[in-house]
Amino acid sequence: MKPEIVLVGPIYAATMRQLESAYTVHRLWQASDPKALLSTLADRVDGSVAFPVTEGNVTAGNATPTPVTLPPVAVAVTSGGRGMRSDEMQALPGLKLITCFGVGVDSIDLAVAQKRGIAVTNTPDVLTECVADTTWMLILATIRKAVFNDAFVRSGKWLQGSAPLTDKVWGENMGIIGFGRIGKAIARRAEGFGMRIAYHGRAQQKDVAYPYYADVAALADWAKILVVACPGGKQTENIVDARVLEALGKEGYVFNISRGSTIDEQALVKALESGSIAGAGLDVFADEPRVPETLFRLDNVVLQLHVGSGTHHTRNAMGQLVLDNLAAWFAGKPLVTPVI
Ligand code: NAP
Repeated sequence: MKPEIVLVGPIYAATMRQLESAYTVHRLWQASDPKALLSTLADRVDGSVAFPVTEGNVTAGNATPTPVTLPPVAVAVTSGGRGMRSDEMQALPGLKLITCFGVGVDSIDLAVAQKRGIAVTNTPDVLTECVADTTWMLILATIRKAVFNDAFVRSGKWLQGSAPLTDKVWGENMGIIGFGRIGKAIARRAEGFGMRIAYHGRAQQKDVAYPYYADVAALADWAKILVVACPGGKQTENIVDARVLEALGKEGYVFNISRGSTIDEQALVKALESGSIAGAGLDVFADEPRVPETLFRLDNVVLQLHVGSGTHHTRNAMGQLVLDNLAAWFAGKPLVTPVI
């Protein structure tokens, strides 16, 4: 019998296929009654598995249906966006591992998981470079108006004259909120563009020579390009608020590849509408896949659909880490990329 896992929400299709071949997968999001599914998986005295598993115990004609106790399902797989709610953890008292396809685990309550003795893994490092590429795609596309200019050409407007000139990217000041793996990969690319770099985090990093700003608004005031690359969750909720946007100012741009929760979205929409900041490039939103419709009408913003890590190469590597963590857990070995 294949080991059983709960798949909380859909992930990369190729990884789901690999999961299906190695495990019995219970798809929670497709269940007509998810609560009932979780309760069946938690309480595994299953009268429908009528006979002892060993064939030798059953002889034709006199077999008596015997309830078999299966172990409760102990492993869940989920995506960074979907995570796993505390009530879902509670509904699976035997849960021992949540494997997250994604590096951000803000949609899993780690304190609850820890209290319940549930290990959590994620997929760090393998996605860093592609997310940094996506950030740079947004920076160049927004500031050099790639999307606007593309529409300009396609609509035949070039025949009537040129599009407006744009701001420049190279040599500007870049402030990075969250100077971890992705923040540093964005900075490495910025070095190639001759930029000055400064960062904000909860504390100054010993091995980092770039200037540290303890105050996000002061960093925004200094920067022309402000990049948000910290984790989501309560601690960073609206870390970029109206005050920070005001400090960024009319010539400043903000880029978000972290989580929608890190920017006060209403304040951002207002700032983009009024021109109190120059522009924004956004990969993530507060209520995905819903995006404030006002943004659809604005030329000073470039919108992506949470595709920071969205290349075949990276998604395969993330899937492999999910599979490696599961294999390690089922083999009783140390987890490959534990968060807790
Ligand atoms: P990481 O290496 O853990 O870096 C996170 C950085 O954020 C650290 O330097 C940390 O520094 C800082 N930080 C943590 N809490 C903070 C707080 N309360 N205030 C300010 N800074 C804080 O993580 P990563 O691999 O770079 O990933 C960063 C995030 O990117 C993920 O959590 C995820 O949300 C997002 N992401 C998005 C996509 C996408 O598709 N758009 C893809 C992958 C990841 P200190 O500990 O010094 O504060």
